[in-house]
Amino acid sequence: MATGELKTNHDQPDNPQDTGEQGGPKKPRPKRGVPSGLWLRCRDCGETVFRKTVAENMNVCPVCGYHMYLSATDRIRTLLDEGTFEEWDGDLLAADPLEFFDKKAYVERLVDERKRTGLRDAALTGTGMIRARRVAVGVTDSAFIMGSMGSVVGERLTRLVERATEQNLPLVIVSGSGGGARMHEGIISLMQMAKVSAALARYDEAGGLFISVLTDPTMGGVAASFASLGDLVFAEPKALIGFAGPRTIKATIRLELPEGFQRSEFLLEHGYIDRIVKRSDMKSEIARSIDYCGK
Ligand SMILES: [Zn+2]
Repeated sequence: MATGELKTNHDQPDNPQDTGEQGGPKKPRPKRGVPSGLWLRCRDCGETVFRKTVAENMNVCPVCGYHMYLSATDRIRTLLDEGTFEEWDGDLLAADPLEFFDKKAYVERLVDERKRTGLRDAALTGTGMIRARRVAVGVTDSAFIMGSMGSVVGERLTRLVERATEQNLPLVIVSGSGGGARMHEGIISLMQMAKVSAALARYDEAGGLFISVLTDPTMGGVAASFASLGDLVFAEPKALIGFAGPRTIKATIRLELPEGFQRSEFLLEHGYIDRIVKRSDMKSEIARSIDYCGK
């Protein structure tokens, strides 16, 4: 974030546990991602680490292995063979059917988010190669209005799935969405869950292979639709994955939540995901899975 004025619910929570819909105390939070300066503090182990070392390590903490935020463009760079990415539907822009206004007008927010992230909306989709295997690939970026799914994210992902079906391509979607459905577009956002899911059902009937990769955080309507529908569901270590945030659940059921609740390791143990894959192994693991499934 370029300025300190954007301290709203829509901004990046420093602590992913703050994704509960109830918002919680409105104290200013430190910015997410990689702040400026030579050093940064890992929010998992608290160690101060050299920023350049972290960047060279795909934004994984060199001390504890915590997988920090990675932008959609960096994700594409780390996942695909160099220079093979070709963007699809990059011209789609969100409408503002509700003329939504919270702390500022939605149209204004979109302009600011575009400037800040360099993305047109919270999803980046296209095609490229993973170790010389052509795939359809989509990434959601939690820095763009929390990676929430509005009309553009839903439409881009749906078209991605449809092209993967037509062209008989393996499909990889990497989710990083703390926001779920984007409330700024109301019902239009909610219907994206069904739209993408329906496209995935047709892709499945056509015999496609969908590998869903969950990163920190994957929450709300994203977790409740396409992100959970993979033939294979991979997750990065310690990623927060769920529908409502842990604070919201705790406040609702008034019970202590189990240790590691909604984290990748807990979800693997309970059968919700298939495998925990380190960022450095993701590319090879996806290539291996495509081969194993004969795609
Ligand atoms: Zn660390």
